[in-house]
Amino acid sequence: MNGMKETVLGIGLLFAILFSSCAAQPPNLYSTLWVQTAAEYRAEALETYSAAASRLDAALADPSWTAALEQTGGYSGLPPAVILDIDETVLDNAPFQGRLLLDNAPFDPVRWDAWVAMEKAEAIPGALAFVKAAIQRDIAVFYITNRACAVGDGNNPCPQEAQTIRNLRRLGFPDVSPDRMLLKREKQEWGSEKENRRAAAAADHRILMLIGDDLGDFLPGVKNGIGPDQRKDLVDRHRDRWGRMWFILPNPIYGSWERALTEPKMGHVRGF
Ligand SMILES: [Mg+2]
Repeated sequence: MNGMKETVLGIGLLFAILFSSCAAQPPNLYSTLWVQTAAEYRAEALETYSAAASRLDAALADPSWTAALEQTGGYSGLPPAVILDIDETVLDNAPFQGRLLLDNAPFDPVRWDAWVAMEKAEAIPGALAFVKAAIQRDIAVFYITNRACAVGDGNNPCPQEAQTIRNLRRLGFPDVSPDRMLLKREKQEWGSEKENRRAAAAADHRILMLIGDDLGDFLPGVKNGIGPDQRKDLVDRHRDRWGRMWFILPNPIYGSWERALTEPKMGHVRGF
């Protein structure tokens, strides 16, 4: 009788362990695996960058062409530039996500800073060829990134700027310099919203293209206090820009799309 009780308890415990390990499956497992293992991801990145490169000459030839909503005034005589985001656009941080998964750890800004300081990120497929194609045409390349400068450290004002520049140079990216890399908090008024940094680049350059992985790399006001449907409406409102002057890379792991989802997340799932 006692033995049977123990067996029943044992089976119950086994189910409890199995069930909890299923329930605890990390939310980023499949998205990280897709980025790291799917040939489809690689093909999509190459496709995006090759489509962008194929539009550079048309963009250069048309003096009325500008990709930045922040571009105002007489811009047709300004030198041309393109604006790229860094993370998941030019540099691949999937190994950082992979480390978190292997350690069963949540996102941690201290661990993120340590990853950036390693300068070990590899390039997103197609990014280097695109940047070289732009530089060959004397198009300036701006990087607008939410990698951040520390506030108020006068002696070493922006370690992540130096780290990111070294990482890009190691990968062979040409003409990478501090004045073309605009980080969050590099100026007091530069927050995670990229609008005023796009405006800063557009003040003395004609912006031919925007390339990013997040709607915030193209449009202001898409990160907070906005729902998924409103974000899709904004995409449609600028329908003629996508694939012509705005190019977006897939990022299923994280992004402002996630922040637009109120809890419970399951409430956003649509069935038939
Ligand atoms: Mg990004």
